[in-house]
Amino acid sequence: MRPQDTIAKKRDGIELSDQEIRSFIDGVCDGSWADYQITAIVMAMVIRGLTEREQDSITEAMLHSGNVLDLSGISRPKGDKHSTGGVGDKTSLVIAPVVAACGVAVPMISGRGLGHTGGTLDKLEAIPGYDVSLTVEGFYSIIDKCGFAMTGQTDDIAPADKKLYALRDATATVPCIPLIVASIMSKKLAEGLDALVLDVKTGSGAFMQRFEDSHALAEALVRTGRRFSVKTEAVISDMSQPLGRFVGNAVETYECLKILRGEADPAMGPTTELSLELAARLLVLARAQSDLAAARQMVRTKLENGEASDAFRKNVELQGGDPRVCDDPGLLLDQEIVKAEVRADASGIAIEIDTLAIGNAVCGLGGGRTMAGDPIDHAVGYENCVMIGDEVREGEPLGVVYCRSAQQAESVVDGLRRAYSLGDEAVDPPDLVREVVA
Ligand code: URA
Repeated sequence: MRPQDTIAKKRDGIELSDQEIRSFIDGVCDGSWADYQITAIVMAMVIRGLTEREQDSITEAMLHSGNVLDLSGISRPKGDKHSTGGVGDKTSLVIAPVVAACGVAVPMISGRGLGHTGGTLDKLEAIPGYDVSLTVEGFYSIIDKCGFAMTGQTDDIAPADKKLYALRDATATVPCIPLIVASIMSKKLAEGLDALVLDVKTGSGAFMQRFEDSHALAEALVRTGRRFSVKTEAVISDMSQPLGRFVGNAVETYECLKILRGEADPAMGPTTELSLELAARLLVLARAQSDLAAARQMVRTKLENGEASDAFRKNVELQGGDPRVCDDPGLLLDQEIVKAEVRADASGIAIEIDTLAIGNAVCGLGGGRTMAGDPIDHAVGYENCVMIGDEVREGEPLGVVYCRSAQQAESVVDGLRRAYSLGDEAVDPPDLVREVVA
């Protein structure tokens, strides 16, 4: 079947057969489908949707586009967490070393920035020399030596997602539950895991902004994990405001290193709290702890006693990064960066934050990509100074833009100011964890 015939079927809302889906995914990997044909069918999928059978079929085809890792040589339980994507959402860099320090191996396959959201690989590459394109042998060896390794999709592991992920990022085709499920689960199921915790974001900075949609995504992810016999749990967490203090690549890595070193300031608190909650849930799911109270205690201890920080330092060395950033996270911050405050033009209580606008502003500064494969500027970003429920006075900073010139700052400051809705009535801050789907 020619690609255009399959595209036409999906365009017209007709369900694709398993064979048609497999031949599409084969075409993505072997180059027999052109990028324009791939993006045409992906847009048709976003608009027409996919049935549950099509979703399972595309997940399976994407999973088997590469190898499924065999980590049976590692005797520890294997677990991982993955997020559906958010703004300032940087918990992987804390969770992986904490969980590894608790005795669960973490074979983490991550992605780059996607749409308005940041990606773990881009954040890691803010560390000079850090290699996120590991060979399968290198991946095994690093997990064996320090308990966790972090790599991207490769020609061997989840190659279909490698290609589709980059194209979806640049063609506004991310927000589609079946495509998100297939993308995430094809990577995670390739890891040979015992346990998987999914952080499903909800709110203005998430791909699924409405709670009902986030819930549907969480259920679809958990069902898929079960289908492949991986113990899977989804935590629906708040994304109605940026997570923690910073948004951007180097600044987010800086925030995680400060947390690991026990030097976090109060604005970084939500990042610490969500990271530890997800890490604790992963320990229970991987049967490394029998109950959540004990797991919560354990992850906090490993963070506070420096074992997680040591694991991260060892990992940075093994993945070719400059370990000095672990001793002095300030080395990650570019001294040439221009900082511009976004000031409130009225007094009031922050009742709503347009987190999507903040994510898009950081991408527009160069923190994300316009074209697949574009280089990014790791140093640009945003510091959020106001959370929902905070009282702000006219002239006080809502946030600080980290950019390359005063002109660049001017292009985003007004939009960022408008991202904050101020009102008169007190509002409760949103709960960090909204629901657990298990
Ligand atoms: N994370 C992924 O890996 N894929 C998506 O589609 C969304 C978030």
